[in-house]
Amino acid sequence: MLAQGTSAPPTLIFHHARIYTVDAASTVSEAIALQDDRIVRVGSDADVLKLRASSTRVVDLGGAAVLPGLHDAHGHFTGLGAFLQSLNLRGTTSYSQIVDRVRERVAMARPGEWIVGRAWDQNDWADTRFPAHEALSAVSPNNPVYLTRVDGHAGLANRAAMTLAGLTAATPDPPGGRILRGAGNAPTGVLIDNAQGLVSGRIPPVSDRQLEEQILLADREMRRLGITTVDDAGTDGRTVDAYKRLIDAGRLKTRLYVMLRGSLAALQPFFAKGPVTDYANHRLAVRAIKIVADGALGLRGAAMLEPYDDESGTRGLLTTPPEEIYAQTLAASKAGFQTAVHAIGDRANRIVLDTFERVQREVAGSRGLRMRVEHAQILDAKEIPRFAALGVIASMQATHATSDMPWVPTRIGRARMEEGAYVWRKILATGAVIANGSDFPVEEPDPMRGLYAAVTRQDASGSPRGGWMADERMTRQEALVSFTRSAAFAAHAESLTGSLEVGKLADLVVLSSDIMRVQPPDILETTVRMTIVGGEIVHDTASPRPGVR
Ligand SMILES: [Zn+2]
Repeated sequence: MLAQGTSAPPTLIFHHARIYTVDAASTVSEAIALQDDRIVRVGSDADVLKLRASSTRVVDLGGAAVLPGLHDAHGHFTGLGAFLQSLNLRGTTSYSQIVDRVRERVAMARPGEWIVGRAWDQNDWADTRFPAHEALSAVSPNNPVYLTRVDGHAGLANRAAMTLAGLTAATPDPPGGRILRGAGNAPTGVLIDNAQGLVSGRIPPVSDRQLEEQILLADREMRRLGITTVDDAGTDGRTVDAYKRLIDAGRLKTRLYVMLRGSLAALQPFFAKGPVTDYANHRLAVRAIKIVADGALGLRGAAMLEPYDDESGTRGLLTTPPEEIYAQTLAASKAGFQTAVHAIGDRANRIVLDTFERVQREVAGSRGLRMRVEHAQILDAKEIPRFAALGVIASMQATHATSDMPWVPTRIGRARMEEGAYVWRKILATGAVIANGSDFPVEEPDPMRGLYAAVTRQDASGSPRGGWMADERMTRQEALVSFTRSAAFAAHAESLTGSLEVGKLADLVVLSSDIMRVQPPDILETTVRMTIVGGEIVHDTASPRPGVR
């Protein structure tokens, strides 16, 4: 490896630490030396400190735990930015509190500017009935407002928004949607499912400037949380261009592994140019596509082989026809792009694995592209060994299991659940690779939540006792590997990131406590003291202006 033999002194040394290198031997070391963006030595304090020169910055970590930079294998980068940009109504306890927050936002807004908020839940209020628009319209007569419910399946519009949308008592309910109505059939402002598009479709697309702001907001969250690489699970060329601009300007620090999402026609120009495996010294790769095969389990949209237990007429739905999944996978594989397919239900998973198997037969060398199933939540027992057999990566999100566990038994019944619901250990036992992630902003991006969920299968309050389907818990080492080395493998980056070894990129995090040794609930309390990307400290709680410039 290139750095071992160089004679230039290290730029940065961390010592007096407990460094989980996540190398093949799970070595724990005391010190690490970085030279510019690479790791040049990992070893004992004595061994590493003897490399110091007068120009070397030396940091005594006082025994703190150090991990490789954490890697979220499935997140929505601009989605998180949009979430942070909008009014966050999570945790509000009354409608009047929401109205107050909108009033504050209106005072700062330009005339006519849309005010978008998210994540209210009337079940958290003393009065759990749906709200009506009047109070909202009173504080925002001129700015259209649209506030989405926590699950994204309902929204509340004010009068200005309804006027722009042409929504009146005479507007019929659209197919698959409902407009809640009051006196004289007048809309109350609450729109359910497909009726939401009547108003949300009027919100103008973000400007380049807003898009860049979203990216920088997400980047700041990543630095704070110790996430040094994100696999961006479905984006477009315009966003990729914005990533490049911000990388070139030195403002975007998180490494991004982009999955493009679009029609075959929209993807063809990218296929024609070929994969981007390294932009700006491994800041960005564009070498994957994302396809969505089915819906979500919570809404009975996941495509199942047999009907849902709590709705016998329904097996869920495929959101992309199998021929289209095949056509995109084939074209991507011929062009040297990895294919990542969202598949939650057992039927969707079977179709996707069948497709991967077929394309691997038809396109020589495509197995090496490391095809991925995103989520892989409910599997028929027959499919479990196919991940390893086909070299397909299971890209799973530990917190999805702990968010979903209260209602999974009702949806699919005990037998299917025990056979294949979020079966991390069954998959690992076959030799397949699990890359972990959060699916932010659907779940919180904090990897500590993911690590905790992976090793406990419990919610934050420690329920259920012993863990849900406890045999499927990961060990701490497995959980750590899934958020580092395996995630790097899933992004073709295992020679660059995912472990702290000489020659690799200097991406690491310093923690407030040792997550490999504390009691499991303390993993949730653990924070990131310092985040280093490519040898640069991009977040430091000890510095007055942590990591932001
Ligand atoms: Zn997702």
